[in-house]
Amino acid sequence: MIIDIHTHLGDVLYPAGGSIIENGRTPMPLVDPLKIFEQRGWRGIRGQRLLEKWAMRTGLARSRAATRANMRAAMDKYGVDYTAVMAVPPAVTFADLHAAHQKDQTMLPFTGVDYTRLNCVDEQFSADHANNAYGLKLHPILQHVRLCDPRTFAAVEAFAPYRLPVLFHAGVCEYYPDPAEKQFASPQFGAIEDAIPLIQNFPHVNFIVGHAGLDGFHAVIDLFSHLPNVYVDVSFQSAENVRQLLAAFGTERVLFGSDWPWGQMDVSLKILEQVCDAAQLRRVLGENSAELLGIS
Ligand SMILES: [Zn+2]
Repeated sequence: MIIDIHTHLGDVLYPAGGSIIENGRTPMPLVDPLKIFEQRGWRGIRGQRLLEKWAMRTGLARSRAATRANMRAAMDKYGVDYTAVMAVPPAVTFADLHAAHQKDQTMLPFTGVDYTRLNCVDEQFSADHANNAYGLKLHPILQHVRLCDPRTFAAVEAFAPYRLPVLFHAGVCEYYPDPAEKQFASPQFGAIEDAIPLIQNFPHVNFIVGHAGLDGFHAVIDLFSHLPNVYVDVSFQSAENVRQLLAAFGTERVLFGSDWPWGQMDVSLKILEQVCDAAQLRRVLGENSAELLGIS
């Protein structure tokens, strides 16, 4: 069984991004510099900085193509049985993902926090849980709320009783190439250190460090690999980095994730096939996530 623990339906970057989910087979960008990074298995390349702005633009185009039909096609192509799909309110809400889940039960929705209605978070999570929420996603950069912010603590405390995983974006990164849109993101809120008090405060919550921290993966290893309630997804991590993550976290706490459509599913799959033996692969591709999500 293969579970992609970190994917997106809907355009998380713009208001009402959930409205694109049923747009069918929207084409992915044809000219796509992200493919250069993908073909190199996410290893750094010369001239990377020149490519970054261009890559950011194709990131926007990929995000607009995060439809249910495109995800279905990618899952079928690469043999992925389940995807965990991440809400990022206000752009993509749990309601958007719940509607998709009702059409395709292999897409498992994570809920998100509506920070404008934090006073109702208990009621929201109770309803979401009753509607098959499989976890909680936090996106400090796009939601403009740091992981160490008391509002994040309040949300995680409200979600903790459900004993489901909390996946947070980790790693400083930019999303918007256009200067006029920079205000829509707070890149520094992706700092790994912000997660320290959150994780310390909730030792009984299973946290998934999104993208294993991107370029901050060494800090993720140093700070969190000794904590049994911390997991990592391998999206955007090279084979060499995945080897280090496996050595530090152990096979039980490393999870296949692509961050589709920002990353293609087969890239991380191939990297894991390259660095894992058969027993490790079973755990990392499916068993670990199945246990976290409570599916069999
Ligand atoms: Zn994400």
